[in-house]
Amino acid sequence: MSGYPATDHNPFRIAQKQINDCANILGLELSAREILLHPRREFHVTFPVHMDDGTVRLFKGYRVHYNDAKGPTKGGIRFHPEETIDTVRALAAWMTWKCSLLDLPLGGGKGGVICNPKELSLRELERISRAYIRAISPFIGPEKDVPAPDVYTNPQVMAWMADEYSSIVGTHQFGVITGKPLQLGGSPGRGDATARGGMYTLREAAREVGIDLKQATMVIQGFGNAGGYAASLAESMFGTKILAVCDSSGGVCCQKGICVFDLQQHKRQTSSVLYCHGTECLTNDELLAMDTDILVLAALENTVTEKNADKIKAKIIVELANGPTTPEADEILYDKGVHVIPDFLCNAGGVTVSYFEMVQNAYMYYWDEEEIHRKLDAKMTRAYREVLETSKKYNINMRKAAYVVAIERVVEAMKLRGWI
Ligand code: GLU
Repeated sequence: MSGYPATDHNPFRIAQKQINDCANILGLELSAREILLHPRREFHVTFPVHMDDGTVRLFKGYRVHYNDAKGPTKGGIRFHPEETIDTVRALAAWMTWKCSLLDLPLGGGKGGVICNPKELSLRELERISRAYIRAISPFIGPEKDVPAPDVYTNPQVMAWMADEYSSIVGTHQFGVITGKPLQLGGSPGRGDATARGGMYTLREAAREVGIDLKQATMVIQGFGNAGGYAASLAESMFGTKILAVCDSSGGVCCQKGICVFDLQQHKRQTSSVLYCHGTECLTNDELLAMDTDILVLAALENTVTEKNADKIKAKIIVELANGPTTPEADEILYDKGVHVIPDFLCNAGGVTVSYFEMVQNAYMYYWDEEEIHRKLDAKMTRAYREVLETSKKYNINMRKAAYVVAIERVVEAMKLRGWI
């Protein structure tokens, strides 16, 4: 069990390799290892949806409860044309470690539907959202499994899902899902929570590495919810200069610094960052290799691999995406001395405010945004410090250290429950 097979960039193989590496560091017994390496439950569903052109299409979706030793499972729902069960399994595993690392009383889960929202009308999107919830409704609930937004899903999708679930059970059940709009039991501060949490960890990392964020430069890969907010928050919180940004259509750069406000407006109008006034175009590969202090990875899995890791010049990598760096690339970056803030620490702000949303839903009492920011900062800063101390104690990289902290807690919960 000590040498784990090649991962082939399959996200679940990568997730399992990371678990196994951590189990070796901790010297975990086989029984604990076996449980951690496999999802506890998974659901594969198909459901018909009436399309606008009068046809009926069958869609396929998944929901995985990876580990619920610490509480109800928690994690987003992705709508993506290339969704696979292995991606959902990996993401559900990462949610388990994320919730544990932030010390939330929750387990990890994830869901996905194979579809391309860019090709769907608003009504088709609504019908898919509602049909998926009908299909998985027996397996979710405020005390069972609580979904949230993820790639290509948003507060409106969460609103339809909460409404559908509420009509199935016959009571208002806003606590079944998080990331909802404010008027439907959403939490203040949830919209930018992933990026904001990442910025709190960046502030701590910059202190550790000795970078003055006011003088620093930043490059951002991905300009969706996480990347978009990261750009504006880095600018407003620290005065950091954004040199380049890319999305799925390509990238733009400006050595003098991109005006984030203009870029956001341009993206809203044209659906892409390309050709924004005052910028030049560049490719994704060029962006990753740019001379910058900070590189933010806010797109999809497997962005930094053994093929491009040695070209990276950034001193700090902020992983707002889930799984953007392969284990092979991790080794290269560690040897180069790059300080990586690993995904399930760095992007945990989203689920942390989701947890605050669950608490507020349960109490029917809502906090103001300032209070959310303060509570989020405290949790993110504490988690960052725990990971940093563990990485120094064991002389391991930040990702392995995050695994050690998270997995130790899950194992303790499994022991207390009598599972092992
Ligand atoms: N989808 C987000 C994540 O990957 C948020 C999950 C949640 O809020 O439950 O962390």
